[in-house]
Amino acid sequence: MAEAKTAIVTGGSRGIGREVALRLAALGYDIAIVYVGDENEAADTIRACEEKGVKARAYVCDVSSFEETKDAVARIRKDFEGNIEVLVNNAGITRDGLIAFMKEQDWDSVLGVNLKGAFNMIRHTAALFIRNKCGRIVNISSVSGLMGNAGQANYSASKAGIVGLTKSTARELAPKGITCNAVAPGFIRTDMTKNITEDNSELLRTIPLGRMGDVSDVAAAVIFLITSPYITGEVIRVDGGIAM
Ligand code: NAD
Repeated sequence: MAEAKTAIVTGGSRGIGREVALRLAALGYDIAIVYVGDENEAADTIRACEEKGVKARAYVCDVSSFEETKDAVARIRKDFEGNIEVLVNNAGITRDGLIAFMKEQDWDSVLGVNLKGAFNMIRHTAALFIRNKCGRIVNISSVSGLMGNAGQANYSASKAGIVGLTKSTARELAPKGITCNAVAPGFIRTDMTKNITEDNSELLRTIPLGRMGDVSDVAAAVIFLITSPYITGEVIRVDGGIAM
């Protein structure tokens, strides 16, 4: 039997992360989900991964915490016998507001989860990837990080930061055969965007393909990057053409 490979998906309990986890499970990866919040959602995702015949576990861990992520990665290495091959940094939050009124706390928490969270996870897995001379890292950015978006200075900054983090990590780890790429979604139908409806014709006008995206649209790009050994430092937009 081929040796089991493990994938870590942060924010894998629901939304885009859940779909990525399910697709990786279908490819035969054992799945470690890192999340906060609703444990029923996480349990449901774990069950759905297990139904695909792989081992799957969920870890409650705030990715913005250096210590919590260090501990979670150590537990994952122990539970899955050290064999981590894929890291998808997908956990993310929004705390929207105009820059003139934005609370310091809203700036700090969005940068903490979205940007430092990805750093923390890469920081605690990189040595393992380097030792194994293999690894695939995919970070979830956003078109908001590429174009900016009024009312999202904190979120845009965190997602633009992800692009820089991705390219520097890609350059550093390329000599070891490890790739690091990013996916920048546009408007994708998940809990994060539940207040946006497609009846909003103003919004639809900004999307050349004329519809919001589905989690499967984003997951397909993530899987493409994970299965592409000669692509690194790339940012793929999955946005219906918004930022072209
Ligand atoms: P979602 O709100 O449905 O899910 C977010 C996930 O992140 C959950 O699993 C949650 O547990 C996890 N999470 C939140 N804070 C965390 C923390 N501190 N520590 C660990 N886990 C945490 O969101 P989604 O729409 O599926 O978004 C997933 C990613 O895609 C995010 O990074 C988001 O910024 C990005 N994105 C989403 C859209 C969109 O339109 N939905 C567009 C562009 C980018």
